[in-house]
Order: sequence, then C-alpha cells, then structure tokens
Amino acid sequence: KLGGDGDSVTFYSHDMNQGMQERMRLESGLRQALADGELLLHYQPKFEISTHSMVGAEALVRWMHPQRGLVPPAEFIPLAEATGLIVQLGEWVLEAACAQAARWQAAGLPPFRLAVNVSAREFSPALPVRVSETLARYQLDPSWLELEITESTLMHDIERVIAIMDRITALGVSLSLDDFGTGYSSLSYLKRFPIDTLKIDRSFTTGLPFDGNDCAIASTIISIGRQLRHKVIAEGVETLQQLEFLRDAGCDEVQGYLFSRPLPAADFEEQLRAGW
Ligand code: C2E
Ligand code: CA
Ligand code: CA
Ligand code: CA
Repeated sequence: KLGGDGDSVTFYSHDMNQGMQERMRLESGLRQALADGELLLHYQPKFEISTHSMVGAEALVRWMHPQRGLVPPAEFIPLAEATGLIVQLGEWVLEAACAQAARWQAAGLPPFRLAVNVSAREFSPALPVRVSETLARYQLDPSWLELEITESTLMHDIERVIAIMDRITALGVSLSLDDFGTGYSSLSYLKRFPIDTLKIDRSFTTGLPFDGNDCAIASTIISIGRQLRHKVIAEGVETLQQLEFLRDAGCDEVQGYLFSRPLPAADFEEQLRAGW
C-alpha cells in the first residue's frame, strides 16, 4: 500500500490517470498533427552587432491545434523527445526549413543562414545522410543551413558525436552549440568540436547588465568563443542595456524580442524586404 488514508490514495491515482491520459491525448494529437500538416515554422532573425545587418534566422516549430490554437514547443517538444516522435518531427522541420530556404534562394534573396534545432535523439549517423539528401532534393546551397545542437547531444559517446559533426560540416552546413553553459559539456571537448558558433542561453542574457554573475558568465563565454575562433551569439536580448553590454564584451551577434519575435514566413519576408 502507498500509505495515507484510502481517500487520498484514490485521489492521487485518479490524478495520475488524468496526467497519463492527457499525455496520451497529446501524443496521439501530435502524431496526427504531423500527418495533417498542423505544424508550421516561425522565423526569428539574427543580427550582426557591428554592421546591424540581418545575418541569419532561427526556425522555431509551432503547432496550430484545431481546438487549442497555437501550442508552444515547450508543451510538445519534451513529449516528442520522450516518445521518440522527435525523429519524425525533426524530419518535418528540416524538410520545411530547407523548402523555405530554397524558395528564398530562388527568389534571389541575399543568402543568410537558416538555423534548425536538432534534439539529442536525432543526432545519429542518419542525420548527415538526411541533411545531404534534403539539400540535394531542394538544390539548396549548404551555406543556407545551420544546425543548432544542445549540450545534451554531447553527453553521449564523444568520438561518435564528433564523427557525425564532421560529416555535417563536410557538407558545408554550419553547426552551433545552443544553450551554451546550461548543460554538462566539458571545456576539454569544446576545442575538438567543428562548430562555428556558441550561443549564450537566454537564462544568462536576462540578467545583463545588472546581475554580476550573469555578466561574468556572458563575458567568459564570449572570451572562450573568440579564443577558439568561434562566433558568439546571445539569444533572448530584450533591452538596449543588454545589447550594449554584449557589444562592449565583444559578442558578434544577437537575437531577441528587442529586434523581432519569431514571425510567420510572410511577416518575416515583409520585414526582410523592408530591410528590418
Ligand atoms: P531555444 O532553441 O533556446 O529557442 C529560443 C526560444 O526563446 C524560442 O522559444 C524563442 O521564441 C524564445 N525567444 C527568442 N527571443 C526571446 C526574447 O527576447 N525573450 C524571450 N522571453 N524569449 C525569446 P520557443 O520558440 O518557444 O522554443 C522553445 C524551445 O523549443 C527552443 O529553445 C528549442 O529548444 C525547442 N524547439 C523549438 N523549435 C524546435 C524544433 O524545430 N526542433 C527541436 N528539436 N526543438 C525545437
Ligand atoms: Ca535554438
Ligand atoms: Ca535550445
Ligand atoms: Ca535557449
């Protein structure tokens, strides 16, 4: 017996059932969403601080639920990761992002990098193969594509991870290390990763320039990045003061609500043509 009086045990298991039912509803809903085309991408621009120019964008997945409206990724990505559905979801995202980039390429837009988030479970030897096939199918120049990977990807067999990374960069696709500093990656491995960019997590950007610890962490990441000859980008930039701190600390690029929220493709294009 679980202890407690009968009533509270009954209440507790009833609660768990509801949680599980909700989870199963969400999972089958997500499966259906993939099949029914209820997923879409929003695009958030990235800017180079020194030139003020838009140099890239991040594709962020959204779920347009017929009843619930726009469901944020925080509500379904962790579930997709736990159930393995993330592999199919990731395939959809890569496909949709490349299709979009190919349309921009065909429209003669000046090229910029479109970044796709890749979860740890997608990071298998099948990934570089799929990336290569998708680029070929859309005749997309690989310099259009970037993959953002998180430190959790790097906790696994490191030699295997580096081999996969090498196969991706050999295609001409760039890699960035997302949410840097929030996971467990070791600095001794950092020098071996063929990455172009370190991304400072929003949890550090938020406290700039008033929280001494966040300032120290952000400055240190920028300094490590520069010395390893990586670009450094900060996400979640919402204020001018944060921007000024990052500029003075030598950060290369910024992304955040101060410049733009993630936008549907049409709105993103409109801003792009207007020169932001
Ligand atoms: P992330 O990769 O760290 O993405 C940054 C998140 O911060 C995005 O949330 C973005 O909308 C939000 N953000 C950007 N600028 C600001 C800002 O100035 N202030 C605040 N408060 N937030 C800002 P979003 O779109 O809800 O995505 C959340 C997370 O879901 C992402 O975190 C990423 O881990 C995951 N995700 C999103 N799309 C995908 C995808 O296609 N595949 C995978 N595997 N994960 C995804
Ligand atoms: Ca990201
Ligand atoms: Ca992330
Ligand atoms: Ca983040």
